[in-house]
Amino acid sequence: MYNSTITEYEGNKSRKLTLRTENGKNSILDQPPKENIPAVQPLIWRNIIAIPVLHIITIYLFVTRYNEAKFWTWIFTISYEILGGLGITAGAHRFWAHRSYSATLPLKIMLTCFYCMVGQTHLTKWIRVHRTHHRYTDTSADPHNASRGFFFSHIGWLMVKCHPAVKEGSKNVDMSDIAADPVIRFFDKYYLPIMFSLCFVLPTLVPVYIWNETWIVSIGATISRYLVTLNAAFAVNSFAHIWGTRPYNRNLKATQNPTVSFFTFGEGWHNYHHSFPWDYKAAELSLYRLNLTTAFIDFMAWVGLAYDLKTPSSEMIDKFCAKRGDGMGLLKPNVK
Ligand SMILES: [Zn+2]
Ligand SMILES: [Zn+2]
Repeated sequence: MYNSTITEYEGNKSRKLTLRTENGKNSILDQPPKENIPAVQPLIWRNIIAIPVLHIITIYLFVTRYNEAKFWTWIFTISYEILGGLGITAGAHRFWAHRSYSATLPLKIMLTCFYCMVGQTHLTKWIRVHRTHHRYTDTSADPHNASRGFFFSHIGWLMVKCHPAVKEGSKNVDMSDIAADPVIRFFDKYYLPIMFSLCFVLPTLVPVYIWNETWIVSIGATISRYLVTLNAAFAVNSFAHIWGTRPYNRNLKATQNPTVSFFTFGEGWHNYHHSFPWDYKAAELSLYRLNLTTAFIDFMAWVGLAYDLKTPSSEMIDKFCAKRGDGMGLLKPNVK
Protein backbone atom coordinates (compact mmCIF):
# COMPACT_ATOMS: atom_id res chain seq x y z
CA MET A 1 0.00 0.00 0.00
CA TYR A 2 1.27 3.44 -0.93
CA ASN A 3 2.36 5.44 2.10
CA SER A 4 5.47 7.42 1.22
CA THR A 5 4.00 10.82 1.97
CA ILE A 6 2.66 9.54 5.26
CA THR A 7 5.98 8.20 6.47
CA GLU A 8 7.76 11.24 5.18
CA TYR A 9 5.71 13.69 7.16
CA GLU A 10 4.60 11.65 10.14
CA GLY A 11 7.66 11.79 12.32
CA ASN A 12 10.39 10.89 9.86
CA LYS A 13 12.44 13.89 10.81
CA SER A 14 15.40 13.18 8.58
CA ARG A 15 13.11 13.01 5.52
CA LYS A 16 15.35 10.13 4.49
CA LEU A 17 13.44 7.61 2.45
CA THR A 18 14.63 4.22 1.32
CA LEU A 19 14.13 4.12 -2.39
CA ARG A 20 13.68 1.12 -4.57
CA THR A 21 15.48 1.11 -7.89
CA GLU A 22 15.49 -1.58 -10.52
CA ASN A 23 19.12 -2.54 -9.92
CA GLY A 24 18.71 -2.46 -6.16
CA LYS A 25 21.01 0.53 -5.65
CA ASN A 26 20.03 3.86 -4.22
CA SER A 27 19.11 6.41 -6.82
CA ILE A 28 21.15 9.57 -7.22
CA LEU A 29 17.88 11.27 -6.25
CA ASP A 30 17.70 9.55 -2.90
CA GLN A 31 17.18 13.07 -1.58
CA PRO A 32 15.59 15.95 -3.50
CA PRO A 33 18.35 17.84 -5.38
CA LYS A 34 19.28 21.04 -3.53
CA GLU A 35 20.08 23.15 -6.56
CA ASN A 36 18.57 23.44 -10.00
CA ILE A 37 20.33 21.02 -12.31
CA PRO A 38 20.84 22.60 -15.76
CA ALA A 39 19.56 20.42 -18.62
CA VAL A 40 18.50 20.74 -22.22
CA GLN A 41 14.78 20.14 -22.56
CA PRO A 42 13.62 19.90 -26.19
CA LEU A 43 10.54 21.95 -27.04
CA ILE A 44 7.19 20.27 -27.74
CA TRP A 45 6.01 22.37 -30.69
CA ARG A 46 2.58 20.72 -30.85
CA ASN A 47 1.76 22.04 -27.36
CA ILE A 48 3.51 25.39 -27.90
CA ILE A 49 1.11 26.02 -30.80
CA ALA A 50 -2.02 24.21 -29.60
CA ILE A 51 -2.24 25.66 -26.08
CA PRO A 52 -2.28 29.38 -27.05
CA VAL A 53 -4.50 28.74 -30.11
CA LEU A 54 -7.07 26.90 -28.01
CA HIS A 55 -7.05 29.71 -25.43
CA ILE A 56 -7.53 32.38 -28.12
CA ILE A 57 -10.42 30.51 -29.79
CA THR A 58 -12.07 29.88 -26.42
CA ILE A 59 -11.79 33.47 -25.25
CA TYR A 60 -13.13 34.70 -28.61
CA LEU A 61 -16.11 32.33 -28.47
CA PHE A 62 -16.83 33.21 -24.84
CA VAL A 63 -16.64 36.98 -25.35
CA THR A 64 -18.76 36.98 -28.52
CA ARG A 65 -21.32 34.31 -27.61
CA TYR A 66 -21.75 34.18 -23.83
CA ASN A 67 -24.87 36.34 -23.98
CA GLU A 68 -26.50 33.91 -26.43
CA ALA A 69 -26.18 30.93 -24.08
CA LYS A 70 -29.46 29.63 -22.72
CA PHE A 71 -30.04 29.55 -18.95
CA TRP A 72 -29.83 25.74 -18.81
CA THR A 73 -26.55 25.76 -20.72
CA TRP A 74 -25.04 27.86 -17.92
CA ILE A 75 -26.47 25.58 -15.21
CA PHE A 76 -25.39 22.43 -17.03
CA THR A 77 -21.85 23.68 -17.78
CA ILE A 78 -21.22 24.91 -14.23
CA SER A 79 -22.58 21.64 -12.76
CA TYR A 80 -20.43 19.61 -15.14
CA GLU A 81 -17.45 21.75 -14.17
CA ILE A 82 -18.06 21.06 -10.48
CA LEU A 83 -18.40 17.29 -10.94
CA GLY A 84 -15.29 17.13 -13.13
CA GLY A 85 -13.40 19.27 -10.62
CA LEU A 86 -14.35 16.88 -7.81
CA GLY A 87 -13.01 14.05 -9.98
CA ILE A 88 -9.61 15.69 -9.72
CA THR A 89 -9.72 17.03 -6.15
CA ALA A 90 -11.60 14.27 -4.30
CA GLY A 91 -10.62 11.56 -6.78
CA ALA A 92 -7.23 11.77 -8.49
CA HIS A 93 -5.71 13.97 -5.79
CA ARG A 94 -6.99 13.21 -2.30
CA PHE A 95 -8.05 9.62 -2.87
CA TRP A 96 -5.75 8.13 -5.51
CA ALA A 97 -2.56 10.19 -5.20
CA HIS A 98 -2.54 10.58 -1.41
CA ARG A 99 -4.79 7.77 -0.14
CA SER A 100 -6.11 10.20 2.46
CA TYR A 101 -9.32 8.16 2.80
CA SER A 102 -10.74 4.87 1.62
CA ALA A 103 -13.53 4.48 -0.91
CA THR A 104 -15.98 1.74 -1.80
CA LEU A 105 -16.09 0.40 -5.35
CA PRO A 106 -19.12 2.52 -6.44
CA LEU A 107 -17.40 5.68 -5.21
CA LYS A 108 -14.15 4.74 -6.95
CA ILE A 109 -16.01 4.24 -10.24
CA MET A 110 -17.97 7.47 -9.80
CA LEU A 111 -14.82 9.50 -9.02
CA THR A 112 -12.99 8.02 -11.97
CA CYS A 113 -15.88 8.90 -14.33
CA PHE A 114 -15.85 12.45 -12.90
CA TYR A 115 -12.10 12.56 -13.46
CA CYS A 116 -12.51 11.57 -17.13
CA MET A 117 -14.91 14.53 -17.58
CA VAL A 118 -11.99 16.98 -17.35
CA GLY A 119 -9.80 15.36 -20.02
CA GLN A 120 -6.39 15.88 -18.42
CA THR A 121 -4.43 12.64 -18.88
CA HIS A 122 -4.45 8.95 -17.95
CA LEU A 123 -5.11 8.63 -14.23
CA THR A 124 -1.88 6.70 -13.60
CA LYS A 125 0.16 9.43 -15.26
CA TRP A 126 -1.61 12.18 -13.28
CA ILE A 127 -0.91 10.34 -10.01
CA ARG A 128 2.75 9.68 -10.88
CA VAL A 129 3.29 13.35 -11.75
CA HIS A 130 1.64 14.44 -8.51
CA ARG A 131 3.51 12.00 -6.28
CA THR A 132 6.76 13.09 -7.96
CA HIS A 133 5.79 16.71 -7.25
CA HIS A 134 5.39 15.93 -3.55
CA ARG A 135 8.51 13.80 -3.38
CA TYR A 136 10.76 16.45 -5.00
CA THR A 137 8.78 19.66 -4.49
CA ASP A 138 10.21 22.72 -6.27
CA THR A 139 13.47 21.04 -7.27
CA SER A 140 14.70 19.98 -10.71
CA ALA A 141 13.01 16.62 -10.20
CA ASP A 142 9.59 18.27 -9.71
CA PRO A 143 7.65 18.09 -13.03
CA HIS A 144 6.27 21.63 -12.56
CA ASN A 145 9.12 23.06 -10.51
CA ALA A 146 7.92 26.47 -9.23
CA SER A 147 11.54 27.58 -8.70
CA ARG A 148 11.58 28.11 -12.46
CA GLY A 149 8.92 30.81 -12.24
CA PHE A 150 5.21 31.30 -12.75
CA PHE A 151 4.96 30.45 -16.44
CA PHE A 152 6.91 27.21 -16.21
CA SER A 153 5.00 25.94 -13.18
CA HIS A 154 1.63 26.94 -14.63
CA ILE A 155 1.77 25.69 -18.18
CA GLY A 156 5.32 25.95 -19.56
CA TRP A 157 6.22 22.52 -18.19
CA LEU A 158 3.86 21.01 -20.77
CA MET A 159 5.69 22.73 -23.60
CA VAL A 160 9.07 21.01 -23.07
CA LYS A 161 10.18 17.40 -22.68
CA CYS A 162 10.58 16.64 -19.02
CA HIS A 163 13.82 17.31 -17.20
CA PRO A 164 16.10 14.22 -16.87
CA ALA A 165 15.85 14.58 -13.08
CA VAL A 166 12.05 14.26 -13.33
CA LYS A 167 12.44 11.03 -15.30
CA GLU A 168 14.91 9.73 -12.74
CA GLY A 169 12.87 10.90 -9.76
CA SER A 170 9.55 9.55 -11.00
CA LYS A 171 11.08 6.06 -11.05
CA ASN A 172 11.50 6.36 -7.29
CA VAL A 173 7.82 7.01 -6.70
CA ASP A 174 5.89 4.02 -5.39
CA MET A 175 3.03 3.28 -7.78
CA SER A 176 2.43 -0.33 -6.75
CA ASP A 177 -1.04 0.38 -5.32
CA ILE A 178 -2.11 2.08 -8.55
CA ALA A 179 -0.78 -0.70 -10.77
CA ALA A 180 -2.71 -3.22 -8.68
CA ASP A 181 -6.05 -1.40 -8.84
CA PRO A 182 -8.54 -2.93 -11.31
CA VAL A 183 -10.63 0.26 -11.55
CA ILE A 184 -7.59 2.29 -12.65
CA ARG A 185 -6.44 -0.44 -14.98
CA PHE A 186 -9.83 -0.48 -16.72
CA PHE A 187 -10.12 3.30 -17.05
CA ASP A 188 -6.52 3.66 -18.21
CA LYS A 189 -7.03 0.97 -20.86
CA TYR A 190 -10.14 2.65 -22.30
CA TYR A 191 -9.15 6.19 -21.31
CA LEU A 192 -9.30 7.88 -24.71
CA PRO A 193 -12.85 6.81 -25.75
CA ILE A 194 -14.22 7.32 -22.22
CA MET A 195 -12.52 10.70 -21.81
CA PHE A 196 -13.50 11.94 -25.27
CA SER A 197 -17.12 10.93 -24.73
CA LEU A 198 -17.42 12.38 -21.21
CA CYS A 199 -15.28 15.49 -21.64
CA PHE A 200 -16.26 16.65 -25.13
CA VAL A 201 -19.04 14.69 -26.89
CA LEU A 202 -21.70 14.30 -24.19
CA PRO A 203 -21.53 17.88 -22.81
CA THR A 204 -21.78 19.25 -26.37
CA LEU A 205 -24.73 17.04 -27.39
CA VAL A 206 -26.85 17.44 -24.24
CA PRO A 207 -27.53 21.21 -24.55
CA VAL A 208 -28.17 20.92 -28.31
CA TYR A 209 -30.58 17.98 -28.19
CA ILE A 210 -32.30 18.58 -24.85
CA TRP A 211 -32.94 22.34 -24.76
CA ASN A 212 -32.10 23.37 -28.33
CA GLU A 213 -28.88 25.21 -27.68
CA THR A 214 -27.00 26.28 -30.81
CA TRP A 215 -24.00 24.17 -31.82
CA ILE A 216 -21.56 27.07 -31.64
CA VAL A 217 -22.60 28.02 -28.09
CA SER A 218 -22.54 24.42 -26.94
CA ILE A 219 -19.06 23.85 -28.39
CA GLY A 220 -17.90 27.15 -26.85
CA ALA A 221 -19.28 26.12 -23.45
CA THR A 222 -17.55 22.75 -23.64
CA ILE A 223 -14.11 24.08 -24.47
CA SER A 224 -14.49 26.97 -22.00
CA ARG A 225 -15.25 24.48 -19.23
CA TYR A 226 -12.30 22.34 -20.30
CA LEU A 227 -9.86 25.26 -20.16
CA VAL A 228 -11.22 26.69 -16.90
CA THR A 229 -10.69 23.34 -15.16
CA LEU A 230 -7.25 22.98 -16.69
CA ASN A 231 -6.13 26.44 -15.55
CA ALA A 232 -7.66 25.95 -12.10
CA ALA A 233 -5.62 22.77 -11.65
CA PHE A 234 -2.49 24.50 -12.93
CA ALA A 235 -3.08 27.43 -10.57
CA VAL A 236 -2.33 25.13 -7.63
CA ASN A 237 1.12 24.47 -9.10
CA SER A 238 1.83 28.12 -9.93
CA PHE A 239 -0.13 30.71 -7.88
CA ALA A 240 -0.22 28.49 -4.77
CA HIS A 241 3.52 27.93 -4.97
CA ILE A 242 4.35 31.63 -5.28
CA TRP A 243 1.82 33.95 -3.64
CA GLY A 244 0.39 33.57 -0.13
CA THR A 245 1.40 32.90 3.46
CA ARG A 246 3.40 29.96 4.84
CA PRO A 247 2.05 29.49 8.38
CA TYR A 248 2.78 25.76 8.53
CA ASN A 249 6.21 25.45 6.94
CA ARG A 250 8.22 28.52 5.99
CA ASN A 251 10.75 26.35 4.15
CA LEU A 252 8.25 25.34 1.49
CA LYS A 253 7.34 27.43 -1.53
CA ALA A 254 3.75 26.21 -1.28
CA THR A 255 1.42 28.86 0.14
CA GLN A 256 -2.06 29.40 1.59
CA ASN A 257 -3.96 30.99 -1.29
CA PRO A 258 -7.72 31.58 -0.77
CA THR A 259 -8.36 32.60 -4.40
CA VAL A 260 -6.90 29.33 -5.67
CA SER A 261 -8.93 27.51 -3.03
CA PHE A 262 -12.10 29.09 -4.38
CA PHE A 263 -11.45 27.96 -7.95
CA THR A 264 -10.18 24.50 -6.97
CA PHE A 265 -12.73 23.59 -4.31
CA GLY A 266 -10.20 23.68 -1.46
CA GLU A 267 -6.85 22.82 -3.02
CA GLY A 268 -5.29 26.25 -2.47
CA TRP A 269 -4.52 25.70 1.23
CA HIS A 270 -1.32 24.42 -0.20
CA ASN A 271 1.26 25.19 2.51
CA TYR A 272 -0.91 23.06 4.78
CA HIS A 273 -1.33 20.36 2.14
CA HIS A 274 2.43 20.01 1.57
CA SER A 275 2.86 19.81 5.35
CA PHE A 276 0.13 17.18 5.84
CA PRO A 277 -0.50 15.65 2.41
CA TRP A 278 -2.29 12.67 3.95
CA ASP A 279 -5.09 14.83 5.47
CA TYR A 280 -8.31 14.22 3.51
CA LYS A 281 -9.37 17.84 4.22
CA ALA A 282 -6.20 19.29 2.62
CA ALA A 283 -6.71 22.23 5.02
CA GLU A 284 -6.99 22.98 8.69
CA LEU A 285 -9.94 25.31 8.35
CA SER A 286 -13.31 24.17 9.56
CA LEU A 287 -16.77 24.93 8.20
CA TYR A 288 -15.72 23.80 4.73
CA ARG A 289 -14.16 27.20 4.16
CA LEU A 290 -13.61 27.39 0.39
CA ASN A 291 -13.32 23.63 0.52
CA LEU A 292 -16.19 22.01 -1.34
CA THR A 293 -14.09 18.87 -1.75
CA THR A 294 -14.00 18.23 1.99
CA ALA A 295 -17.78 18.70 2.20
CA PHE A 296 -18.16 16.21 -0.66
CA ILE A 297 -15.91 13.59 1.01
CA ASP A 298 -17.72 14.07 4.35
CA PHE A 299 -21.04 13.59 2.56
CA MET A 300 -19.73 10.42 0.88
CA ALA A 301 -18.64 9.17 4.32
CA TRP A 302 -22.08 10.00 5.72
CA VAL A 303 -23.83 7.92 3.05
CA GLY A 304 -21.32 5.09 3.63
CA LEU A 305 -19.30 5.32 0.41
CA ALA A 306 -16.10 6.74 1.97
CA TYR A 307 -14.43 5.66 5.21
CA ASP A 308 -11.16 5.76 7.15
CA LEU A 309 -10.80 9.53 6.67
CA LYS A 310 -7.29 10.52 7.80
CA THR A 311 -6.62 13.82 9.57
CA PRO A 312 -4.03 14.99 12.11
CA SER A 313 -4.88 16.14 15.64
CA SER A 314 -4.87 19.90 16.27
CA GLU A 315 -1.99 19.38 18.74
CA MET A 316 0.12 17.82 16.00
CA ILE A 317 -0.66 20.71 13.65
CA ASP A 318 0.08 23.35 16.31
CA LYS A 319 3.44 21.76 17.14
CA PHE A 320 4.35 21.56 13.47
CA CYS A 321 3.26 25.14 12.92
CA ALA A 322 5.23 26.51 15.90
CA LYS A 323 8.38 24.72 14.82
CA ARG A 324 8.38 25.37 11.09
CA GLY A 325 5.82 28.09 10.36
CA ASP A 326 6.61 31.58 9.10
CA GLY A 327 5.25 33.18 12.26
CA MET A 328 1.94 33.92 10.55
CA GLY A 329 0.36 31.05 12.49
CA LEU A 330 -1.78 33.51 14.42
CA LEU A 331 -3.28 34.51 11.11
CA LYS A 332 -4.64 31.05 10.45
CA PRO A 333 -8.14 32.45 10.16
CA ASN A 334 -10.74 31.09 12.56
CA VAL A 335 -9.55 27.56 12.60
CA LYS A 336 -11.88 26.43 15.32
ZN1 LIG B 1 2.27 21.65 -4.67
ZN1 LIG C 1 -1.07 16.71 -3.25
